[in-house]
Amino acid sequence: VSFSSLPLGDKLQRVLAQKGYQQPTAIQAEAIPVILSGQDIMASAQTGTGKTAAFTLPLLQRLLDRSAEDCLTSRLPTALILVPTRELAVQVNGNVSQYAVNTDIASVVIYGGVSIDAQATKLAAGCDIIVATPGRLLDHLRRGSLNLSSIDYLVFDEADRMLDMGFMDEISAILTRLPAKRQTSLFSATFSTAIYDLSKKLLHKPARIEV
Ligand code: AMP
Repeated sequence: VSFSSLPLGDKLQRVLAQKGYQQPTAIQAEAIPVILSGQDIMASAQTGTGKTAAFTLPLLQRLLDRSAEDCLTSRLPTALILVPTRELAVQVNGNVSQYAVNTDIASVVIYGGVSIDAQATKLAAGCDIIVATPGRLLDHLRRGSLNLSSIDYLVFDEADRMLDMGFMDEISAILTRLPAKRQTSLFSATFSTAIYDLSKKLLHKPARIEV
């Protein structure tokens, strides 16, 4: 499989060429077409397998495909990527910015341990993608500095770690603020009973991918 055989447009193909990526990794080859098709997905993927690009590239393409209509004019975020830790939030947001470099798509990263006001100011300026840890995201929802009513795409990265860290209550509270009609992708290194229970709550007829 080559990247050029995947339905990713010119703006993303150029960035992949600039980064010197020769071909998609296994998780990318499997997940990218599924996410582009609009189907929910449940994927097992370890760190280092290219999982970040596996969900970010099709997400960016979906936002680009609709940007002419609305998403870049209203500037309410349409995509939410939930991650377990501050470090991962920074890393994933960095990847999103890199892959989106040829586009107008903007992302904001949200995590705890730093000033909430500075984050609220960034959110007020508007963006398309939020990368967030659950606790601080909920803080913003409760103080009204973030509106998730336009989220069409939801991604869980390292879902097993999110559950291990005890974020289930926060996740449930966040879900009540999201539109029910959305595309959801769940990535996890391991699949426990708890992850399957979460996936039943979150995912609608998901494609299951193991690499
Ligand atoms: P991840 O598993 O998402 O943390 O990615 C691990 C590393 O692989 C990152 O440094 C990426 O930049 C890199 N990477 C992702 N996809 C590819 C690819 N198709 N070819 C070469 N490197 C890649």
